Order: sequence, then structure tokens, then C-alpha cells
Amino acid sequence: MPPHTREAGIRGGTDPAGEPTPEVRPRDVHSHIPKTHGMRSARVTLGLCPPRQEPVLCTLCACPSGRPSMRGPAILLTVALATLLAPGAGAPVQSQGSRNKLLLVSFDGFRWNYDQDVDTPNLDAMARDGVKARYMTPAFVTMTSPCHFTLVTGKYIENHGVVHNMYYNTTSRVKLPYHATLGIQRWWDNGSVPIWITAQRQGLRAGSFFYPGGNVTYQGVAVTRSRKEGIAHNYKNETEWRANIDTVMAWFTEEDLDLVTLYFGEPDSTGHKYGPESPERREMVRQVDRTVGYLRESIARNHLTDHLNLIITSDHGMTTVDKQAGDLVEFHKFPNFTFQDIQFELLDYGPNGMLLPKEGRLEKVYNALKDAHPKLHVYKKEEFPEAFHYANNPRVTPLLMYSDLGYVIHGRVNVQFNNGEHGFDNKDMDMKTIFRAVGPSFKAGLEVEPFESVHVYELMCRLLGIVPEANDGDPATLLPMLHTEPALPPDGRPALPLHGRSAVLPSSWALVVMGLLGTMILLSEVA
Ligand SMILES: [Zn+2]
Repeated sequence: MPPHTREAGIRGGTDPAGEPTPEVRPRDVHSHIPKTHGMRSARVTLGLCPPRQEPVLCTLCACPSGRPSMRGPAILLTVALATLLAPGAGAPVQSQGSRNKLLLVSFDGFRWNYDQDVDTPNLDAMARDGVKARYMTPAFVTMTSPCHFTLVTGKYIENHGVVHNMYYNTTSRVKLPYHATLGIQRWWDNGSVPIWITAQRQGLRAGSFFYPGGNVTYQGVAVTRSRKEGIAHNYKNETEWRANIDTVMAWFTEEDLDLVTLYFGEPDSTGHKYGPESPERREMVRQVDRTVGYLRESIARNHLTDHLNLIITSDHGMTTVDKQAGDLVEFHKFPNFTFQDIQFELLDYGPNGMLLPKEGRLEKVYNALKDAHPKLHVYKKEEFPEAFHYANNPRVTPLLMYSDLGYVIHGRVNVQFNNGEHGFDNKDMDMKTIFRAVGPSFKAGLEVEPFESVHVYELMCRLLGIVPEANDGDPATLLPMLHTEPALPPDGRPALPLHGRSAVLPSSWALVVMGLLGTMILLSEVA
């Protein structure tokens, strides 16, 4: 059993293979989450009545059945008003014909300012037609899978549990690379429900095209349509990019999907290989821009312009690795450190590292490392800065670390040769990324101030008219992007229809209103 499962305040155990079992359960989503995160639970809204249950039945169930004083017309009037005022008792009500679709596109590793040294006419046009954030702050660690899962769950990484691009097991010491990890069910399905599944549970149809986490089931439910790239996939083939867009358009038009997440592996790969300041990266950004143009043309050609909201974003930025630095971070050169004290290590992965010392050697290892290098920041798990919202998860090892911008962490030998890297502190500007949106729900020509990626999930749920799962986002943060800013009731849920097409009314409000109406009708009959 890894020592971290024995730490105070950390629940959960290990599965037979040694991986910490998820401590969260579907009905106990955030039991380990500090309240200071401001978590809000949508389950409270849904708790009184399942989404498909007619709220009026709940009202009648609260009264003695066959109540003699409630004559037929009065009942019918109450039923009609209640139905109007309490659509789904918290669940959204939308007619299929009026629902806007949503396409979330991620271009991996697109740094916030990649459009500033390259002509990007299509991204520029999208900004004129819609909303552009000055930049977006990703979650920490600034890695692909963790940050993509934050986008589709609205949770910080310590709360959704996909803490690394790699699956790992501290007991068996198994470590799997990114692509293999995409198919490891339990790595993803560990208590959080992504937006695809939430949408499907509320009657919508969803698709994932190469999007990390979209190829496994969650609580037994698979995404309606899903594509996973092969292990030797060429992520930079522009012809294939267009074919993928054609497929997604067919999903929307022929299969009537409501939500699709579409992933492109660039400009991340090029940024790693050549560095973010290279001509190759700039050329790749031109390819991304052409693809954005093709995408918007495709949306128009398929008559979706007025019915589809498009969000283009990314997971993190990219920075240049200082390979010639005279002070590389090299574990094999640290004088008081030996790998003989380590049971499990996850190093040589950019600027991030995790260590599980052998039994009784944590203090020794920590003392050997804490001041080993001025560019390396080593923490005990419980002392890791809370602002990162990262370490409070059973999968995070007792010691973890990150290095300063430009420095990667080398372990037993130097095996990292990338010219560009990410994974650094999400406060570093080079880790910031993009957010653009256009469509019938978005204002035009609006540039908004930076925000955290954790809020995008709430926005997407709002656009789809679905009730979110519990998450770390604030539903009010991104509302200024939308045409209508509904007044929020005290619990933050919209009390008015959004864009005249959906309404989410807390069931408690509905019950109060219905009770008042019923009382008024009864009193009028007595009088
Ligand atoms: Zn990358």
C-alpha cells in the first residue's frame, strides 16, 4: 500500500494492482474537496425530482390525494402554471428544434499569443464575429490530459483525478505513455462525469473526436460517437484535419448530435520539436488558422451558422527549453540524493516530477532535495501550494516538484531533448492559452479579460441548457460573453429563460411558487 493512502485526511485504499482506488463516488463527488474551492452542487437542484419526473406530481404527492376542495379546474390551472414555472423541476426544457448545438475545438499547446507574430486572418475574423479572451489560464499541471479533463468537467485537477498524462501505479511501478493512457478506463473514470455523459443523461447526444478522455466509459456510459487516434498517428496532416471536420459536420447534420469535442494535436507537437519561437511553429499556426477558416466555412455550408456555438481553445501554452543552461536540473548529480531511497519515481516529464520514497525515508529524501537546485521546487504533498489545486488527490505522491520556466527535470540520465515544453506554473505567461467563441449565443467583437479554464464547463452547460455536475467553476464568470445575462437567483442558477430557449428553475423555488398559487386558488374558492 503506498504511504500516501495512509496520510491523515486521505481516504480511499488501493486496488489489487496497487493504484489508489477512487475515494469519490457518484453521490459523493467532492467529499475530499476543501470548502474554500467554492464548490456548488447541482445535485441539490436535481435532488427533489429526477429530471424526467413531472414536477406537478411532486406537488400533488405533497398533498392528500383526491382532496375534495381541489376541483378539476383549479387542479388543472395549478398544474398548468406549475408546469410553466417549474420545467423539469430544475432540468432544462428545450424543444429539439430550437436547441443550439455546441462544438468545442482544442488545438493542443496553442499559446495565448501565437497569433501575434503570424498572420491569422481566420482567427481574426472569428474574434470580430464573436468573443476573444485576452488569454485563458489553464489548470496546473499544465499538461494535456489533466487540462483537457478540466475543460470538460469544470474541476481543478486534484478534484477530477486525471493528474498526469501518464497512467502510473506506485506499487507495480507500471508507467504508460500518453496514448496508452487514453484507453485506461480507470484512469479517467474515477468519480467525475464529463460533459458528454451529463449531456446524454439529460437527453442530448454527444461526440468526441480524438478528445482526451472521450474513449472510455463513465459509470458505464459511453460517449454517443467517439474516435480515437492510432498509436502512430500523424497529428499534423492538414488533409486529415479537414476530413475530421467533415466527419464532425456529419455528426451534427446527419446524426443530430448536440455536442462534439474535437481535438487537434498541433501546434503542440511542433512546439515541442522546434520550440515555440521557431519558423516551424509559426507555419503550424498558419495551418491552424487555415483550418479555422475551413471549419467556419463548413459550418456555413451545413447551414449551422445560426444553430451552432463554436468554442476554440487549448490546454496550455509552450515555452523554450534552455538546453544550454549551465545549471540543468539533474537528479543524478544531486550530492545527497540516491535513487536507492526511492520506491517509485515519475521524472523526465518536462518540469514536473513525483516521488514515492521507500518506507521511512521521506524526510531524508525531502531534505536532500529541498535545496538541491535553485530552479527546482520540491514539496511534501501536504505543503504544496493550495493555489495550484493539484496535490489534494490520492494519486499524487508524498513528494512532488516542478521547475522554473525553461528548465526540465532530468532523472537518472538526461533523456529529454525537446526544444519546447509545458507543464510549468500556470501563472507563467508562456503557459497561458487561447479562448475564442462565436455563434448565435455569443456577442460579437467582444474581448474579455483573462479567466481560468475551470469556468468553461459551466459556460458549455449553459449553452446546451443542461444542468451541470458539481464543479469548481463559477457560472457567472463567463455570462458577459453571451447576448443575454439572466438575473441570477441567490443560488446562482438562472431564473429566466436563456435566449428564450431554455429555463432552469430551482425546484425549491418552483415548489414555493406552486404552493402559493394553489393556496390562492383554494382561498378564492372558499370566499
Ligand atoms: Zn505537449
